[in-house]
Amino acid sequence: MLGGIELVPSVFLAAFASYTLHGSSLTIATAIALANALQAAVGAYVLKLCRFDPLLRRMRDIAALGFVALTASAIVPTLVMGTYYLQATYAGGRTPSFSWTSYWGGDIWALLIIAPLIIRWLAKPLYRRTPSQHFETILVFVVLVVCNYVVFWRVIPAISGVSVIFVLFAPFFWIALRFSSRFVTLALALTSLMAYIATRVVEPAATAVTQTLGERLFQVELFIIFMAVIFYILESIANERRYAIEALKVQVRQLESALRRISSEDLAKTEFISVLAHELRNPLAPIMSGLELLQIKGTSAVESHGIVQMMTERVAAIRRLLDDLLDVARISQKKLVLKKELVDLRGVIERSYASINELTIQKTHRSELTLPADPVYIEGDLVRLEQIFVNVMKNAVKYTQLGGTVAIAVGQSGNVATVSVKDNGIGIESDMLEKIFEPFVQAYSTKVEHGGSGLGIGLSLTKRLVEIHGGTITARSAGPGKGSEFIISLPALHIVSQMRQEPNSVQASTSKKRPAKVLVVDDNVPAAEGIERLLSHTGYTTDTAFNGVDAIARVKTFKPDVILLDIGLPDMSGYEVARTLRSADNYSGRLVALTGFGQSEDKSRAFDAGFDGHLVKPVSIKDIEAAIAL
Ligand code: ADP
Repeated sequence: MLGGIELVPSVFLAAFASYTLHGSSLTIATAIALANALQAAVGAYVLKLCRFDPLLRRMRDIAALGFVALTASAIVPTLVMGTYYLQATYAGGRTPSFSWTSYWGGDIWALLIIAPLIIRWLAKPLYRRTPSQHFETILVFVVLVVCNYVVFWRVIPAISGVSVIFVLFAPFFWIALRFSSRFVTLALALTSLMAYIATRVVEPAATAVTQTLGERLFQVELFIIFMAVIFYILESIANERRYAIEALKVQVRQLESALRRISSEDLAKTEFISVLAHELRNPLAPIMSGLELLQIKGTSAVESHGIVQMMTERVAAIRRLLDDLLDVARISQKKLVLKKELVDLRGVIERSYASINELTIQKTHRSELTLPADPVYIEGDLVRLEQIFVNVMKNAVKYTQLGGTVAIAVGQSGNVATVSVKDNGIGIESDMLEKIFEPFVQAYSTKVEHGGSGLGIGLSLTKRLVEIHGGTITARSAGPGKGSEFIISLPALHIVSQMRQEPNSVQASTSKKRPAKVLVVDDNVPAAEGIERLLSHTGYTTDTAFNGVDAIARVKTFKPDVILLDIGLPDMSGYEVARTLRSADNYSGRLVALTGFGQSEDKSRAFDAGFDGHLVKPVSIKDIEAAIAL
């Protein structure tokens, strides 16, 4: 039963062999063997239903075992005694020398003592024992043997008329509370054996002389069955408690480490907010002073141009910062979608390299670019790939003292394309090599030397972008002052030469033409007027509206080719305006949404409402022109 259904055929054969060899008739032997097989099958099935674990580690296993031992074990005695009875009645066979109860008791005993003993001792021990535990095990079994001897050989028959049988509880409690169920099965088997021998060899007590040997053995058997039930239960309770304590300890450790992580992340975020404020203030300060300068009358056209140029660069810096922050949020919410295409990595690297050129010259670095002669094809998002390499190259330039060297090399081995960006700059402490890829983390030396410039999100964003391209990024450095190397590996594609197409060919926009009339709709009056002014300066005919109703009315009179429509309007949403224009007014011109929300679901909502394009504020004239082209 404990070993499972697959042992049933063995049970049948063993029972059949045993009874045949014992001199039973073929009918009796077959009937008994069938009964045994049936009992084993029923027991094994019930135990399987209870999801019984034969290692007896849980209270429920003990309950299942106890239940099956008491019920299923009645099948064999009932069938066998029935067969004997029928045979004796109708065929004149002999009646058996044992009773139904003693047969049943024997089966219970076998199920509670012998089967668990075999199964438990064949299983691997869960724990290794220390020498002191070995000593304790030997000691408790010596005590058990002595107690068994005192009780069953009746060395001390009774104390003040009270049976000494209770002394056996002492070693059994000891074993159940301190040892695993293996030792409980061993103690029960040992006690059974000693009790059996004593019952056979020792003269019966005066009170029991009238009983037959069978009756006395049956009493001993019952006693051991009770002991088994009690101490298995006790052991499983102690065991469950041990497990619960272990599990609690593990959970406490996990909680502690989670708490440490949360507080360090919290600290990093607080630091991040102060750095962010600092980073935003940096470009804002020159914009403020630039604006004031522009307001002073008498600023020459050349000066104004310089100021405007400077302000444009600062605004672009703020925009980049906000884009990075948005990307981090998008990636962590798994909302970043790659526009994958076939790309020659060499082209991407060349463009990224060109974009850091100015910074390299400013810092008087010497830079090298090594590209393979053959194309290195990968599948990726051009914009995101450039973001990755510009980030890493910029860091190399930034974290290298004036007049340093930055070397960039592209290679391919098998299915892997690699890009190495190496500098001889300030280097990275070995314990920071992994951490710099975590968000908001900056190496200590950089913080000190570079006054905490940067936000510490560049590399974490880079790493995530590389990962969503199926690649990896690692940092190497021999230590502070010894330069660093960043290696980016990406899955490369093998393209058969005939299939090679010119990758990276920038999409020609020749098919597009400039619209004539543009309507700008935004409830933020200065913003609307700003865009309108920009557009009319660039040669478009423009008009403005500051709410939805007004916008719909203007469309009828002004008849624009393109509408730049803000989504958050006071009277109705931009989506509603778009739907009305498209359905009721049959507006067929271009509709471009202008919003502060750049999440992908905002875009899809806009397209559903009938928009053709989607711009995220702030926008430059270049962005607008690209979006409104027909
Ligand atoms: P940021 O540059 O804005 O601080 P990054 O995430 O790009 O943030 O970089 C994190 C940190 O990694 C930097 O602050 C710097 O300490 C370290 N680091 C990155 N690149 C290099 C490099 N090439 N050499 C030395 N340190 C670097």
